[in-house]
Amino acid sequence: MRWDGWGDPDRATPLPASVVGLLRELLGVRADPAPPVRLEEMTPPAPNPAVRVLAETVGPDWVVSDDETRIRHTRGKSTPDLLRIRAGDASAAPDAVVLPADHEQVLAVLERCSRERVAVVPFGGGTSVVGGLTAAGEGFAGVVALDLRRLDRITAHDTVSRTATLQAGLRAPRAEALLAERGFTLGHYPQSYEWATIGGFAATRSSGQASAGYGRFDEMVAGLTVATPRGTLTLGRAPRSAAGPDLRELVLGSEGAFGVITDVTARVCPLPETRRYEGWRFPTFAEGTAAVRALAQDGPLPTVLRLSDETETMIGLARPDEIGEGRGDGCLAVCGYEGHREDVAARRAGAHAVLTAHGGEPLGDAPGESWAAGRFSAPYLRDALLDVGAFAETLETAGFWSVLPRLAESVRQTLSRELPSSLVMCHISHVYRDGASLYFTVVTAQGDDPLGRWRHAKAAVGDAIIEAGGTITHHHGVGTDHRDRLADEIGPLGVDVLRAVKDRLDPAGILNPGVLVPPATG
Ligand SMILES: Cc1cc2nc3c(=O)[nH]c(=O)nc-3n(C[C@H](O)[C@H](O)[C@H](O)COP(=O)(O)OP(=O)(O)OC[C@H]3O[C@@H](n4cnc5c(N)ncnc54)[C@H](O)[C@@H]3O)c2cc1C
Repeated sequence: MRWDGWGDPDRATPLPASVVGLLRELLGVRADPAPPVRLEEMTPPAPNPAVRVLAETVGPDWVVSDDETRIRHTRGKSTPDLLRIRAGDASAAPDAVVLPADHEQVLAVLERCSRERVAVVPFGGGTSVVGGLTAAGEGFAGVVALDLRRLDRITAHDTVSRTATLQAGLRAPRAEALLAERGFTLGHYPQSYEWATIGGFAATRSSGQASAGYGRFDEMVAGLTVATPRGTLTLGRAPRSAAGPDLRELVLGSEGAFGVITDVTARVCPLPETRRYEGWRFPTFAEGTAAVRALAQDGPLPTVLRLSDETETMIGLARPDEIGEGRGDGCLAVCGYEGHREDVAARRAGAHAVLTAHGGEPLGDAPGESWAAGRFSAPYLRDALLDVGAFAETLETAGFWSVLPRLAESVRQTLSRELPSSLVMCHISHVYRDGASLYFTVVTAQGDDPLGRWRHAKAAVGDAIIEAGGTITHHHGVGTDHRDRLADEIGPLGVDVLRAVKDRLDPAGILNPGVLVPPATG
């Protein structure tokens, strides 16, 4: 993973000259921004030696505090995170990175950190885009990143029930490869697939591109093992239970603030026999939305179902490997089908009829296949945009179908108002019977104060989302970026309940302080 950007450095691709020209002309993007500071030139604050005591829990080789390792565990991968790190700001570097081998060692680290008042940031793939890895270290004897990469095995596989127990530090491609050897798949493909981990997916309620077919990650979770400063929570004795509130739900989305997920027992599916992705064109986003809703409510549901608005279709962002190659008018929808041949054929035929009845025009396999080929490429594009002085960031929400059009329009208008001379694009990529998510991408000039401009715009969008009846986040999570909006979502009493849970599981408050749960006031 690039320390100052996304992914595999060998896959970095500069923007075509035509796109750079367009950015300069339309958005006023200035030439030649300062190049990123080099890794060797960065100096994080001197590490606090107090954290060395953790060597007693994991062994001295697994408490690492060289500059590069600490810098690589500083913050996540939102655009503000990248701009800060590219500018050489390593002020939030942890004092050390601790790499436990197993659940018992995680428990020992948490127990010791509680005693020594050392803050612990659970660290999976480091792909958070909501400030979930930036704990508030004030008042603590130090901050450590608890990197779970050594927990990287499948420890159980129940072929009868179709569940598999995956350790938390398994990155998604490795998890899929191990499951594929057994003839199974999770089917979880977020855009951060190449780097994100099983524990991170559960801790953030991640949602992948094939959510229409395989479900969100939280729907895949049958059980969890969680290490807390008070001991172990083992959850999920049966697929469903009436034994009170489901505590699995309390851990899903807890973002490292309640405990460290050390393994997840996930519902897995047999590897699909066939996969097929196709493109459709709709004259307008409204017509495309009606078609997508019909499929979500009355079926049949494709495995992948996404609809780009007019701007995203025109720019070609739905197919990032071909960015900038004019797509004409209308809105591109991608429908993908995975499964047994007969099932794919039946769902495809049924969906075809529904999409056609709603004014869709079939475009054949090419747009679908090119979307599938470029499905993990957009984050590389973001780095290229940053390199030429553009600012590109995403945000997401969800709402019931009845509020969705107003919600989409309100966010679009707010972004355009707050960030004049910007491109605002939107797509639907996760659908439910009662509603859908909206995912926005904005591209604008960095200007003199990109972080300040974005902070301002993001605050205004947050107001717009709440006012229009959307959620503050559909799948990115709360982190520190959305934390102060949590009361808008669940009310002050709801926040108080979460605070009480945290107090009970983590009495010393060492787990990801400042993330998810707003501090008590007064
Ligand atoms: C380019 C890009 C594209 C993305 N696309 C998607 C997408 O399509 N869908 C989507 O849902 N998200 C997406 N994300 C967001 C992010 O990838 C997800 O939130 C992902 O689930 C985080 O996993 P991770 O392993 O990287 O966790 P991290 O970023 O390491 O951690 C995320 C949070 O969870 C906590 N945490 C991590 N592991 C554990 C654990 N084992 N136990 C307890 N707490 C833990 C951390 O402390 C942090 O608060 C994207 C991010 C980027 C940068």
